[in-house]
Order: sequence, then C-alpha cells, then structure tokens
Amino acid sequence: MEESKKTKHMKKILLLSSFLSTFAFAQIQKVEPMFWWKGMKNPEVQILVYGKDISKYNIELSDNVKIQNLQKTENPNYVFVTINTNEVNKSSFKINIKNKNKIVDSYTYELKDRQPNSANRTSFTSKDMVYLIMPDRFANGDESNDSKKELTDKANRSIPDGRHGGDLRGIINNLDYLQNLGATAVWLTPVNEDNEKQHSYHGYAQTDLYKIDGRYGSNEDYRELSQKLNQRGMMLIQDYVTNHWGISHWMIQDLPSQDWIHKFPGGKDGFRRSNYRTTTQFDKNAAEVDKKEALNGWFDYTMPDMNQSNPLVLNYLTQNAIWWIEYAELGGMRVDTYPYNDKEGMAKWVKAITTEYPNFNVVGEAWMYSSAHISYWQKDSKIAEIDNYNSYLPSVMDFPLFSELPKAIKEEESWDKGMIKLYNSFTNDFLYPDINNMFVFMENHDTERWNEIMNGDVNDYKLGLSLISTVRGIPQVYYGSEIGMRGDKSKGDAAIRQDFPGGWKSDKQSAFTNEGRTSEQKTFHDFTAKLFNWRKNKEVIHSGKTKHYMPQSNVYVYFRYNENESVMVILNANPEKQTFKLDRFAESLNGFTSGKDIISDKVLPINTNGEITIDGKSSMIIELGK
Ligand code: CA
Repeated sequence: MEESKKTKHMKKILLLSSFLSTFAFAQIQKVEPMFWWKGMKNPEVQILVYGKDISKYNIELSDNVKIQNLQKTENPNYVFVTINTNEVNKSSFKINIKNKNKIVDSYTYELKDRQPNSANRTSFTSKDMVYLIMPDRFANGDESNDSKKELTDKANRSIPDGRHGGDLRGIINNLDYLQNLGATAVWLTPVNEDNEKQHSYHGYAQTDLYKIDGRYGSNEDYRELSQKLNQRGMMLIQDYVTNHWGISHWMIQDLPSQDWIHKFPGGKDGFRRSNYRTTTQFDKNAAEVDKKEALNGWFDYTMPDMNQSNPLVLNYLTQNAIWWIEYAELGGMRVDTYPYNDKEGMAKWVKAITTEYPNFNVVGEAWMYSSAHISYWQKDSKIAEIDNYNSYLPSVMDFPLFSELPKAIKEEESWDKGMIKLYNSFTNDFLYPDINNMFVFMENHDTERWNEIMNGDVNDYKLGLSLISTVRGIPQVYYGSEIGMRGDKSKGDAAIRQDFPGGWKSDKQSAFTNEGRTSEQKTFHDFTAKLFNWRKNKEVIHSGKTKHYMPQSNVYVYFRYNENESVMVILNANPEKQTFKLDRFAESLNGFTSGKDIISDKVLPINTNGEITIDGKSSMIIELGK
C-alpha cells in the first residue's frame, strides 16, 4: 500500500474504532441511588448515572417522566439526573441512553413504597444503652464469606491488622447475648465495602457507599440484622463517614470533578495529611493555613478528603445516608470525624436527614476535650450562635468526661485531683443545649481500653460503669469490656480490637454463654447486665434532673430525681471503706426513709441524722423510698 493510501486507511480504522468504542462503551455501569421511594418529604432525587462518555449521549426518561435538572461535570463519564418523584405515577420508569434516536442502553429505575410510619421512626435516646461492635472482631457466623475473590484483603486471624472473618451473621446469632446484657442499640463500625489492600478491617476507607462489604454479608443481611433488632425493641446505629472515602473508591479512581475531593499541589494524588487540629473551626485566632490543613487535609493517604462544599458531593452523601435509613430501617447514626468536615455542609446534611425523619438521632464524633468546644457542635448551641452557626446535630460525645473519668478514679485525692474531676466536669453541663443527648462512654474503638488503664481491676470497672449508667445522657459500652477485655493501644490499634472469645468455632472458650465465661469474666459481665437491665425502665435516670455534692474523702455523691422518683448514687474511689453522715444531703433526702441499693439488693434505712457506710473502691445506687 502506498503511503497516502495507508494513511487514509489508518484514519478510517481510527475513526471506525473511536466510533465503535463510543458505541461499545455506551452502557450504564452504575446508577446511584439504585432505587428510591415515593412519598419522601423531599420529593426530588438526584440520580447519578455512570458509564464511559455517558454525558455525550442523550438521556431520556420513559413514561413522560420529566428531567428537572440534568447536570454534567468535567468528567464525561457522569451525568446527574434530578427528578421529582411526586410527578411519577408509576412504580418504575426507564432511564434511556440514546445515540441520536437509538436507545443504546437502559436502566429500570424503581420507586418503592415506604414502610408505614417510616418517617416517624424512633431513634436512640437516653433510654438506650448503645453497644459498640467492630464487626470483623465480634463473631464469625459465616465462614464462607471470610475471604472473597473480588476483595483483596483475605482473612487471616494471625495478622493483627488483617481481616479476621467476623460478620453480620455472627451478630445476628448473638442477639440474645446483647439483649440480655441490657443493650438496646447496636453501633457497628462501618460495614460498607472497604476494598483497601490491607488494614481494611476497620472499614473507614469505604470503596462503595451503597454496598455492604461481602466479608460481612449482603445488603439484605444488614437489613435483616436491623429488622431483627427492631423486633426486640432494639435498633441499629450506622457509623457514617462523610469526611473521607477510601482511595480505591470507584469514584475517587475516576473523579467526577477535580474538586470532588480536596487536593494539595505537590502531594501524591493531591495528598496532604490533616494536622488534626479542628479547633480551627471556631478559633478566632487561628491562621488560615492551619485551618485549611485541618479541614482539607486528608485523614490518611488512603482516605481522600471529601469536599462537602461541592453541592454534588453533599447531595451524594445526603441521599446515601437517607437511602440507608430507609432501606435498612435504621435507628440512628454516628458520624465519624465530625469537625473535619465543611461545617456548613454538615449542617445541611443533618438538617436534610432530620427533616425527613424528625425523631432520628445523629451523634457526631467531635474529639475535643473542652466542654465549650463540644457544645459548639450540638444543635441550638448558644456558643455557636456567636458564629451565627447552628450544626443541627442532635447529639455529641462527652469527650471531656471520658478524659476525666479514669483520672478521677485512679488519682489520689487532692484539691484538684480525684473525684473532684468528675464534679468539675459536670459543672459545665450548663453549656450543652440538650443535656440528655450527650453520648457518655468510658472508651471506644479508638481509645485505650478501660480495663487496660485500670490493670484489669473489676472494682474500677464497676465504678466507671456505675457512673456512665446513672448520669445524664446515653451510655455506650465497647464490646468486650463487659468481660474484662484488655489490650494495650501503644502496641497498635489491633490490641484494642481483639476477637471476642467464642466468636469463632475454633475458639477454646466462649464468653457468649454463662457456662462458657470464666469466673473473672462473669464478675464483669453480671455487673454490667444487672446495671443496664435495671436502667432500661428507669425514667428518673433517662430524663431526671441531677444534683451533685462536692466530693469528700474521694467519695462523690449525686442524685437523679424527678417528681416521682429519686436515686442516690455514691461512688467511692477511696480504697478505704468510708462512713459519713447523711445530714449534708438533707435537701435531696428529705421525705425519704429508706433506700434499696440495686447493686447489693440491700435495703437500708435513710435518715438525715444517720450515717451510711460504703466499701472501698465501690459504688452504691440507691433507689429512695418513702
Ligand atoms: Ca465470616
């Protein structure tokens, strides 16, 4: 072939192949949300349609469904199609991809009916005890899903940071255990697909926000767990991560737009590590450079930082959260790394959820040690008003109390050490707009384990637990603590996330059953179960007022009371037995003549001229009677 002919021929082939490739790739690879519901308060849904060069095609909807808005981004592989579900009479319609007039691909979009009363679903409150589980480490109910062909990180229990095989079936199999313990709500660390190559077991680098990780089970299994909890009057709390996705997420690998995530020039893939100093969110003295690095920096290289000020990103996160609530019949959400997000975006995110579900509770992880800082993040905070800001976030975590609690119990008493730390902590309660919606905890999956700090001392455990189960707010227990589980965080996070004994068939011992528990585990467990089962119906603890008295001899006394009931709590962090007069508590004790300590089950006379004796390192929780 002569040169010019050859060139012509090549050109033809190129033209043909580009035509063919366009043609061949004109197919829908993803549609998200995969389906939606009729009768939502916000009738609009923005449907992401993903496929090679899809934005170069015509998008049409069948059955005269109108496209309210069609948005394209700089990446031709995405289109965002907004429809108004109120205007659709049918339960499904087709999204047609057309090349000129020819339909080249099509997706049937379903609009489901909602569950009755879905909008008014109940959520976790101060009536609940929240039990926190890392699903990979709790129980392996299905060995067939331990490793999946399509998911890189394979199960290997000998690797501390590897996948161990725990799953949703394991939790479903142990619902009796959780219920008997007194748990009423279960918070799972994220269970969406996290297909990072290694260290993926924690689930915080999610690679698909609409899909449960195959090693935990399926979307249906997740919904089954939620429904089975609901049948027991319990509920499922989802751990939601707005701040970052996994770097292997399909959308991160093919960004809809460069501003989908925060990128820093010079960093690999735009990476710069966050400085983790999120007080810059309200600090009037903060330098812009620090603020930008805190909020836009990545939590880790594997966790690109989402840009919630991009309305498409924010709407994706909002719809995804609502999709899970509606689909899986959730009873609440816990939001990871709350102050690392764009705070205006997050206020809109929470407001959209709580507008759709007015009783729905969302607790944000704002890991800060000042009560003023924590207060800033709670809905209707007077402190945030200074900034003209309202987070709309109903619940916040009591990190200041978490920080003071072990010190208060361990330290030798002095002017500013020992139980006075608890007293001082509660003096800040006036800062919180909704005191009963404080999340109260001794530890979680990111902190040191309580029983490690306390060297396995069951008396110290009992003191801590007596406090979190009787003060205002929502108590949370971290799996394993109730059997005395330990683990040294300085050796790595895996140390505080060990497998629950009995969760695996090959385990020599099971702490899931009374017969299986060691006598030491029993002491921890039975105390926990007793306290939280007692607490279940104690309105005075759920919503009563608090009156506390200054600690003396390292004994802290407070009362929870309402019009009908009063409970006296005595925490003695002193190793010695203490006897003290009751006259100092007359304003709380007047009218009462007896009391029943729900820990020892002993009935005691109550007389403001009398005395009371409490053992060293112990607690009393006394229901007062007339
Ligand atoms: Ca498994």
